[in-house]
Amino acid sequence: MEEKYCQSCGMPMGNTDEMYGNEKDGTKSKDYCKYCYENGEFTYNGSMEEMIEICVPPMTENNPRMTPEAARDMMRKFFLILKRWNSK
Ligand SMILES: [Zn+2]
Repeated sequence: MEEKYCQSCGMPMGNTDEMYGNEKDGTKSKDYCKYCYENGEFTYNGSMEEMIEICVPPMTENNPRMTPEAARDMMRKFFLILKRWNSK
């Protein structure tokens, strides 16, 4: 089974639609998690670099052996394949 990620922040979405944000009409978004996307709009409109900075602390917390530098490096590569950052 294909692993799904939020196409904005890269969070794994799991096998249910629980993590997905909703569109204006209440249907679930197919691409974005509930933290990034609410009522048809992104909750956060910064740049990719800013998004990465927000993700570094939770990431290093979950992976105590990962340095902030390594986390940034990894996310820069990963974010470029996500729809939100890839479509420009
Ligand atoms: Zn997200």
